[in-house]
Parts: sequence; structure tokens; C-alpha cells
Amino acid sequence: MESKCMAAFSADGIIKHHTIQRRDPKSDDVVIKIEFCGVCHSDIHTVKSEWGPTMYPCVPGHEIVGHVVAVGKKVKRFKVGEAVGVGCMVDSCGKCASCKNHEEQFCERKTVFTYNSTELDYKTQTYGGYASSLVVKDKFVLKIKKNLPLEKVAPLLCAGITTYSPLKRFKVSKGKKVGVVGLGGLGHMAVKIAKAMGAEVTVFSTSSGKESDAKRLGAKHFLMTKDPQAFLTAAGKLDLIISTVSVQHDMTPYLSTLKKGGTLVLVGVAPEPNHVHAFGVIGGRKSLTGSLIGGLKETQEMLDFCAKKKVFSDIELIQPSQINEAYSRTIKGDVKYRFVVDLKSI
Ligand SMILES: [Zn+2]
Ligand SMILES: [Zn+2]
Repeated sequence: MESKCMAAFSADGIIKHHTIQRRDPKSDDVVIKIEFCGVCHSDIHTVKSEWGPTMYPCVPGHEIVGHVVAVGKKVKRFKVGEAVGVGCMVDSCGKCASCKNHEEQFCERKTVFTYNSTELDYKTQTYGGYASSLVVKDKFVLKIKKNLPLEKVAPLLCAGITTYSPLKRFKVSKGKKVGVVGLGGLGHMAVKIAKAMGAEVTVFSTSSGKESDAKRLGAKHFLMTKDPQAFLTAAGKLDLIISTVSVQHDMTPYLSTLKKGGTLVLVGVAPEPNHVHAFGVIGGRKSLTGSLIGGLKETQEMLDFCAKKKVFSDIELIQPSQINEAYSRTIKGDVKYRFVVDLKSI
């Protein structure tokens, strides 16, 4: 079936109108009419071939929401007309230890990512959500509760689960003290979700202009990272830090703000290696780790949690013709806090 879409054709990353073919739905497929898709920084890195060679044409987008328009005959979980979402993955082997443990993002054979990836046949290219429609295996489709603002739900499918998963893994609950480094697309979701879990949130930012927003989003404290005094005032206070920073930096000062046994989780990817001094983790026996999105089961749990707590993304809604401008603004950090493309009339 034909799907209208927006695609990049070379590493210049310029997005243009295009048409692709989606596969004819199989018995376990769900056909989705896409309504909104979030603009993730990964989309921009990928269209510009910044994370290795990209397959062109590239249709980005992995924060996808819409409605079911058809289901294969074996599909029991979804009905035509239901609101659904698709995140960063569309298939995995289903048989390995990671898949059996609901961690499809770490499939030991192959995780099929939503775009710039190949299906399990290692040949058929995948195309993402800047498009009119999508055909996806039912297991990789998420349910969205009724009457939610779908355009604000879209960014939960990547930014939401990326931050929810480590907050859940490190058992954030009432009274825990959580630091969030960087207040962008990922950071603003980390603040909202940590606050909804009951945490006292501290935002670290390079930009003093973000203090009032940080507090509006739910942070109790705001620290300017250019001020060395800020790290001293926060020393030894935090249980957990989620770092969303995607530029090279020294992690040692952040580690100093953790309590004994505290953990710093990286979810932002800098192109160059970050620095860390061994004393940063030796004193206080601290941990440094990372996290990658979340499995399907946890993503559904996150969507249900956010629906219950009324946690959504702060977005700027754009038309497909504005994507290139939105990319330039995202690179400059000039977005509050996620661009979402309206694809209803692409
Ligand atoms: Zn993403
Ligand atoms: Zn697997």
C-alpha cells in the first residue's frame, strides 16, 4: 500500500515530500493511520548520517500516534478505530533471553528499529512515522487510553520511555531526590515523570533562562552548571541522576552530588567520550550506567502511568512543510520542548 511521507535523500538532511510502499498487512499486522509524530534528536542525527551511514531515502520518526484502520485476522488486541502508538522498535526475534524478559530493545539476534533499519530478513528497509500510514506487527503496537491529547502523547513513545525506564529501574518513589541534567526534550519528560513518581527534582542546566520553566515543570531546585558553587551546595544530596546531555562533558562534578551508593544514568549520547575521574565513583561507591528506551511491556506501563497522572509532553505543533525549520531550531535548543508534526493532511 502507498504511504505519503516526508523523507531525506542524502546527508544534507533536507526533508522533502515523498511516497513509499508499506507491506501488505499480514495476519498479525495492524494498519495505522498516523496523525502525529514527534521530532526526536535521533531523527536529525540519522538523516544527516551523523551516527554512521544512513539508508536513503530515510523517513524518520519514532514517536508515532494514530488510529487503527485495519487489523490482520489473527490480531485480537486491537480493533479498528482505537488510538494507538508505535515507538522506536517494530520487531525483534521474540525467542532470545532478552525478548523473553520483555527487553526487545536488547534482542540478541536483531532489534528492528522503526526507521533506518532492516526487517528480520536483513534486507527490507524500515520507514518511520513522518508518513500517512504504518503497518506494524501487533506486538509492537501500544494502546493509548481514550480521550487523551494525542499530539502531546506522541513524544512519550521515545522521550517518555527513555526517561521512565531508568527512573523505574532505580525505584524512584516518594521522597527520593532525583537530578536531571539538561532541560530539553528528554529532560523535560524526566522532570515531569520523576515528579509524578513523588521525587524531589533538581535540574542542572547551562541556561539560567530555564529556571522558571524547570520549576513550572515540577523541579524544586535549579542549579547552573557554570557556577562551581552550585555543585558544592548540592554535594552528596541526590539518590539518582538522569543525564540527557548530548555534548561532551566531565561527569565527575555530577557524581559529587550523589549520595553514597547513588547512580548516574546516561541517556544522552555525546559524539565524543565523556570524562570521569575514578575518584568520582570510588568515594561513596557510586555507579555510572546507561539506559536505552524500554521494552514493549514497560512502554505500555509508562503510557498507562502517564495517562493516570496526566503527564504529557510540552509541544510545538507543526505542519510537514515546517520540518526543516524545526530541525534547525531543535539543533539550537530553541523548542519548548518537542516539535510534533501534524500528519493528518500530509
Ligand atoms: Zn527518539
Ligand atoms: Zn530476541
